Amino acid sequence: MRASQIFIPTLKETPAEAELVSHQLLLRGGFIRRLASGLYTWMPLGLRVLRKVERIVREEMDRSGAQEVLMPVVQPAELWQESGRWEKYGPELLRLKDRHQRDFCLGPTHEEVISDLARREIHSYKQLPVNFYQIQTKFRDEIRPRFGLMRGREFIMKDAYSFHVDHASLEITYQTMYDAYQRTFTRLGLDFRAVEADNGAIGGKRSHEFHVLADSGEDAIVSCDHCDYAANMEKASSPAKAAPAEAPLEAARVQTPGIRTVAEQAAMLGISSSQIVKTVLVVAGEQPVMLLLRGDDELNLIKAAHALEVDEVRMATPEEAESATGAPLGFIGPKDLKTSIRVLADHRALNVGNFSTGANEMDTHWVNLNWDRDLSCPDSADLRNVRAGDPCPHCSTGTLGIRRGIEVGHVFQLGQVYSERMKITVLDESGRDATVTMGCYGIGVSRVVAAAVEQHFDERGIIWPASLTPFDVGIVAINARKFPEVAAAAQALHDRLEQAGFNVLLDDRDERPGVQFATMDLIGLPHRVVVSDKVLAQNVWEYRARRASENTLVNEAELMDRLN
Ligand code: ATP
Ligand code: MG
Ligand code: MG
Ligand code: MG
Repeated sequence: MRASQIFIPTLKETPAEAELVSHQLLLRGGFIRRLASGLYTWMPLGLRVLRKVERIVREEMDRSGAQEVLMPVVQPAELWQESGRWEKYGPELLRLKDRHQRDFCLGPTHEEVISDLARREIHSYKQLPVNFYQIQTKFRDEIRPRFGLMRGREFIMKDAYSFHVDHASLEITYQTMYDAYQRTFTRLGLDFRAVEADNGAIGGKRSHEFHVLADSGEDAIVSCDHCDYAANMEKASSPAKAAPAEAPLEAARVQTPGIRTVAEQAAMLGISSSQIVKTVLVVAGEQPVMLLLRGDDELNLIKAAHALEVDEVRMATPEEAESATGAPLGFIGPKDLKTSIRVLADHRALNVGNFSTGANEMDTHWVNLNWDRDLSCPDSADLRNVRAGDPCPHCSTGTLGIRRGIEVGHVFQLGQVYSERMKITVLDESGRDATVTMGCYGIGVSRVVAAAVEQHFDERGIIWPASLTPFDVGIVAINARKFPEVAAAAQALHDRLEQAGFNVLLDDRDERPGVQFATMDLIGLPHRVVVSDKVLAQNVWEYRARRASENTLVNEAELMDRLN
């Protein structure tokens, strides 16, 4: 393809609204354009990358035996009322009415829709196991859409849902999907890590998140330097893994009458204590004017804001959170309990709420504890928060390290939560009605594009992994208008490379060479070939790999070697 035929609106300046490298470079390279908060248009170049991600995801899903379907984006409220999530999901669920005043929502996920399909269509154990997937647009009204594609409101997800006659069958498909995810993210050229994740109130047995390792990642992940233990911070910090969590709150109860222990609160809410104490929310004063939020669990942020009916919600920098003095101050630290509580201890904070959420189930429980400020809070935090350097809870030999990750995939054993609520049964082998067991498996297809850039860039621009690049090779024709032989040779080389199976972008624009090179570097094609009157005279091509700093003169056979 010739550059004059594909619209690549590059920008010289870094757009002010873009904080993250991936956001900056995807805007500057003309891959995406913003429509409104969390809503982006895929430009021709960006769409080529997105399609490559989709293709790899689709191939690996098909290979794993999952079957592709495509479900509606708009979902009737009745299904969500049946599952109980119409109430529980909160403001992230965008609700709308049709002309008959019937309630609908834009699908943030599709458990309800697929469950409805399954109970209508699947009647016998003989039809199981079955795994359906789709690659489709999702909408979540994120409280703080940011970082471009990374946390959009509208985004593209691959979501799969499996149905089983028993747990043993789910285990097999879960492992198949886990393996498919390993292959998928490897093929996508990403440096990633699968980590144990919390199942929250949903209560299934197992859950893993797949994280692309990047300093800019919103999530903290914990891993051992000795064994293969790796977990996200929530899971690693959960009382089941760490030292007993109840003790400090028990102490609090003794000091401050009326306070409940974690176990008591959990019993009161009808959930297990491992599902509670994920987030400490601190509010000074009865009527918080502003909630200073720290941490990155968007869901908790929404709920906290919602629960407190505050108008303004924003992230606090660590410094801001540490140095903020006096009321009114609210502070939330889902992934950094220790700091949260230290800050609490330093302030005239009056109420500490145990703000617990079951990760996917989206249950919200708000419990006022009325801790006293004299409480020795930092110690209590120690018990629940992992820190780098702690001994590994699994092998006890290794030491834990903390890294940042971008969640690009999530596999999850749903168990029978939806099938019970939505009554999905099949006749089992003995002819009895059996409730099916389910799993669900997501990949952030559009987020992968941003995550790939976070891992592959330099000061000049993006460096696409070979599997994602919008074009394999860029040919720069220098002064092609002035030298027809350059234009002709570049076009001929373009055609031969296309013939050989490469996608080629030929920059035939009437631009200065410096501008042409800068564009090629910015948009991140892995290979660049320069065609000029000078190199033609020597009967060679001038080649440079995107990561290299020097050009190499090569003949065509050598060029082919480099490209392969
Ligand atoms: P996060 O913790 O980042 O909010 P999530 O746990 O809410 O993600 P899941 O419900 O597990 O997301 O959805 C499956 C995948 O969809 C995630 O692993 C992530 O890659 C992607 N995803 C979720 N929310 C967004 C978003 N707002 N923008 C882009 N991708 C997203
Ligand atoms: Mg989320
Ligand atoms: Mg998550
Ligand atoms: Mg998730």
